Amino acid sequence: RRKNAWSPFSTRSSHRGLHGCMSAWVIDEYGSNAVLRFTEEVPVPALPSPAHLLLKVHASSLNPLDLLMRGGYGAKLLQLRREPLALGGRNEFPLVLGRDVSGVVLECGAEVTHFRPGDEVWAAVPPWKQGSLAEFVTLSEYEVSHKPHSLSHTEAASIPYVASTALSALINAGGLCAETTPHKRVLIIGASGGVGTFSIQMLKAWGAHVTVTCSHNAEGLVRGLGADEAVDYTSGDTVHTLEAMDRFDVILDSVGGETEQWALPLLRPWSGSKYVSLVTPLLSSTDHLGLLAGGMQSGWALSNKLLQRLLSRGVFYRWGFYAPDGPALDHVRALVDSGKVLPVVEAQFPFTQVPQAFLKLEAGHARGKTVVCVT
Ligand code: NDP
Repeated sequence: RRKNAWSPFSTRSSHRGLHGCMSAWVIDEYGSNAVLRFTEEVPVPALPSPAHLLLKVHASSLNPLDLLMRGGYGAKLLQLRREPLALGGRNEFPLVLGRDVSGVVLECGAEVTHFRPGDEVWAAVPPWKQGSLAEFVTLSEYEVSHKPHSLSHTEAASIPYVASTALSALINAGGLCAETTPHKRVLIIGASGGVGTFSIQMLKAWGAHVTVTCSHNAEGLVRGLGADEAVDYTSGDTVHTLEAMDRFDVILDSVGGETEQWALPLLRPWSGSKYVSLVTPLLSSTDHLGLLAGGMQSGWALSNKLLQRLLSRGVFYRWGFYAPDGPALDHVRALVDSGKVLPVVEAQFPFTQVPQAFLKLEAGHARGKTVVCVT
């Protein structure tokens, strides 16, 4: 299901004549918040293939990646992914940021089998595509999923990108799934933000024992979402507290940096345990060193770490990445509609206040997600 194939047939639409312009927040260069520009003159995107859908965006949300991309992070690799044949000859501007969408299907390409105009859907927009801080966005059928009935668009927009990241990291890199997770001990480092608040709930729904690190004023939040143990990382004795606990089967690290040095020994040795880091140098290395050298340097760093960790302690070291995956969001929808996963919306901004939403994100200390209500 959800095939991607080109054919010359016509489209199905509930909204004929969408060939004008739309409102969007764009950037025309990389930089600080000042580069965000509101315009009503962005062309409504055309369907790139009959396997694509045109969505009307009702709500979007911000992720740390939006801040990073605003500043130029990943520009080289993402532009290569956007236009592999342009070989740097074209630029990516005006660029629309925003990685989450909750909205309604307006138009379906002729190859789309799973959706109809009028369906309420949610999706995580891949970073190499034009984002959702706009009235309309196009996505392939594979990237889209029906939205949970129990959530408003504002609530739904808080979930897709962090859910796609968490699922890809926990399943593909961490080797976990609903069947294998019961009673596994999982540590989430940095659990009070978007990825962490979703991951706690996902892992509890799968039956894991979940320990998290967060600052003291987030303890009520993470325990309310199901965390079994919460360790205050600002207390000064995080490592001792964690060392006194049983060893972990999987660690999901959303903080990075020196964390690895003290956290790796917390894994159960020689038992297939896995350290999954979401903070990787891949995109920044290609920005600084170019595609080839940056890619090679990242590959070398990863294989080096992997081998060292495996030989010294028998633990696997992996990087976790966001991956577009509509069927994975179908799984999340079932958990949401059965009340096992809740949206965690910390702040909402109207579409006129996107720069203020970026400032909120930039201030850090997220407790869940910042959502933008688009229409
Ligand atoms: P958020 O900004 O939503 O949350 C980060 C959270 O971490 C905040 O609640 C913050 O609260 C907390 N925090 C900061 N420092 C520490 C620390 N030392 N120990 C424990 N908690 C800490 O980010 P996301 O959850 O959306 O993303 C987390 C990370 O994962 C980001 O670095 C992001 O770039 C990365 N990521 C990577 C992806 C990939 O494909 N590889 C995809 C998605 C995200 P406080 O400061 O108050 O403690």
